[in-house]
This record gives sequence, structure tokens and C-alpha cells, in this order.
Amino acid sequence: MFIRFALLPVIFALTLSTCRRHSTLASTAQAASPPPAASASPAAASKPGSAPTSQQSSATITAGSPTKPGGKVVVDQTAQVIIFCYHRLVDKVRYPGTEITPAMFEQQMKSLKDRGITVIGMQDFLAWRRSEKNIPPRCAIITFDDGWKSQYEVAWPILKKLGYPVTMFIYTEGVRGASLGGGEAITWEQLADMRDNGVDIQAHSATHQDLREGHTVMVIDPDRKRTKKKLTGAEYEQWLQNEVVGCKTLLEQRLAIKVNCFAVPFGNYNDHVKEMARKTGYEAMFTVYGQPITFNTPMDSVGRYAIEANKPKVFEDAMKMIASSSGGANAVAAVGAADLQSEPAEGSTVRTALPLIKANLSSLGAVDPASVQMRVSGLGVVPASFDPKTGMVSYQVTQKLRDKSCTVIISAKAADGKKVEAHWTFGVEESGAPAGSTSPSASPKK
Ligand SMILES: [Zn+2]
Repeated sequence: MFIRFALLPVIFALTLSTCRRHSTLASTAQAASPPPAASASPAAASKPGSAPTSQQSSATITAGSPTKPGGKVVVDQTAQVIIFCYHRLVDKVRYPGTEITPAMFEQQMKSLKDRGITVIGMQDFLAWRRSEKNIPPRCAIITFDDGWKSQYEVAWPILKKLGYPVTMFIYTEGVRGASLGGGEAITWEQLADMRDNGVDIQAHSATHQDLREGHTVMVIDPDRKRTKKKLTGAEYEQWLQNEVVGCKTLLEQRLAIKVNCFAVPFGNYNDHVKEMARKTGYEAMFTVYGQPITFNTPMDSVGRYAIEANKPKVFEDAMKMIASSSGGANAVAAVGAADLQSEPAEGSTVRTALPLIKANLSSLGAVDPASVQMRVSGLGVVPASFDPKTGMVSYQVTQKLRDKSCTVIISAKAADGKKVEAHWTFGVEESGAPAGSTSPSASPKK
């Protein structure tokens, strides 16, 4: 208990200074790049008050940026995601660098909904980046760092009320009962409860220290004796191995989960750390450079906005960035799913993993028949046939769809040379059980 209390202010101080450094760097970088279009329309975002589900309930058509020659552009490449990083929720803020009041947190969460930003889960984001799944045009991801019990006791109920998914970045020595886990730390039981209820649990190192070689670190022996040391060579490599690989292994074994994300402590890393993380099987690495994440953001430096109680502007800035940044999304217009007459219909569920997929493109106007392309989640581009007379595009799936949800993206070049795209999602539930048998999993989960 003492260790966590004694150590954390130091960590906070470091976090603060790092964050400041990072925001300076980030704003410099932004200033150097062309500013986002000031006139960009917020029409990209779904309507205020719309359901916060991770899938849109209507099909959308995107008139995106012109197609690059030979480039495979999918509609959701214009989508953008902002990722928020929170720490501890307390009624009385003493460390504003990492704390926030429950009231302010709830207000921020609600305002996402009010402004038409859809909160999606981390795994949906990763699936989008793998071109396996579509996401709404403007999304947010909520993450919590370090594993505080207030995240379980205070933040999670608020998120559940709003129907928001969440990701927890845990440093394993900070879990309650471990060498750095004091009375305010989250417990393994609480983490297991979160896991059982769909919370995404990911890695944040073992001991939460600067991972770069040459820094003095606190080495914790198995008997919990702590020594400050500047590690180099083989000794450093062994230590780093535990921070990057050991942390993942422990989380995976203790909770029987798959860990594929790594939040770098303080956002401090270098190519060597990145390389080890990649080899360990992390699909994404997260820093604290807040910025809207696009389809092309490098996965080894995904920036998050660290929200601090004394800087509500960071949250507002993030909201402004995603609302005004251009990405072609200002050209998105929503059309009713009925306009595409898609089959299987948007939101419906088919009983076969080999469905016939059809849509009528006449509502898109005249398109170049040779440019029509169908893309199916889990399959990629499929050899669909298009009949210019009827405007029907169709494809009989020949390889079983593996996911429970399938997104179809159709793109084509319009007469004026602009790219038009349409997408919709349907469910796949191939019933292997004999008809009439009731599944026990039909009862609601606790
Ligand atoms: Zn942290």
C-alpha cells in the first residue's frame, strides 16, 4: 500500500511533465502541417441523440476524395477516431494531472453522445484498421490507465449507463496485492468481472517506468526488494522483456484473454522498444500525443488525449479536432438503407454463412460499370457482377463468413469522376443446432 502511495506522486509528476512536452511537440507538428479545412461540415457525425451503438443503423454513401490510381480505398478510410485516456476518479481532486471528478467525467461522456460522436470498442477500431469492419465517421474510444479501483467502482457504472465500451490499460505490478498495488488499486477479481462483461483489458507494462535503455529504473526483486539502477546490455534486455512480454503473458494467463494493445508508460519509447512490442504480438502501441486517428496513422504510435481535471480544454480541443478535421468526411451524406434495396437488408440477420449479397446502385446516379467494386468484411474485394441496365450489383458468397456481423462496401466512380461509396451491415447466425432446440445462451448474461 505504502509503495503505491509513495511512488505514484512521482509517476504523476513525470506524467505531467511528459504530457506537457508531448503537447508542445504535437502542436508544433500540427502547425507544420496544413490546417484542417475551416469550412468542413459537421454533417459527417451522426445526428445528436442517435443511439451510441458501434454500428450505424443506416447505410451511408460517401462521396470521398478522388480515387488514387491503383489504390484500394474503402469507404471507412475517411472515418476518424479520438482516443481519451483517463486515470483516477475522485470527488476531491488533489492531483489534477491524473484525477477527475465523477461529475466532470460523466459530463464529458454525455457530451460525446450529444455531439454525435460514437463511442466504439478498441477491438472494433483494430478491426477497422485491418479493413475487416466498418466504423461510424466520427468515433471515440475511452481508455483507463494504471488500474485504479475508482475506475471499476465509479467510472464503469457511468459508462455502462451510457452503453459505452471501455479499455483498461493495466500495469501488472500495480494490481492490488502485487508489489506496487496498494489499497486504491484495482483487484484481479474486479478485472475478471469487467472482462466477463465485455471490457477490453490491455497491457501497460509491468512496473510503469521509462522503457528506454540508459534510464535509471527501480528494479523490484522477487522478494520485493527495490533497487534503483541504470540498466544496460543483457540486464536491460531482460528487464525490458518482462515489462513488454511478461506483462502481456501475465494478463493473458491470469484472465484468459488475448492482449493485443500496449500503452507505453509516459509515452516514452524508441525503435528498440517498438520492435520488441511488435515481435510480442501487439497490434497497436499507444502514446499520449492526442490527435485524431485516421486510417493511415502508424499503429506503433497511436495518440491519446490524456484528460486532466485542471485542463478541460484538452477535451474540448479533441472534440473540435475531430469535428473540423478534413478527411473527406465532409462529403458524407446519409441515405436510407432502403435506397440501396440491399440484401441481406441492413440490420437483418441471415441464417447462412454463404449469403447472396445484392444491392441496387441506381440511387447513386450514373456510374462507370467497370469501376464498381464490392468489398466484404473478412473476404476483401470479391468478384461481384454488375448489371448497368438494372443497377444491380450482386455476389454469391462462396467462402463461409466467419464473423457474426458482416459489412459490405460498394464503391464506384460517378460520371463526374468522383468516387461514390455505400456500405451496410447485416448479421450472420448460422444455426448448427437442430431446429426447435433452445440455446441456454439465449438467457440474458449478468
Ligand atoms: Zn500509466
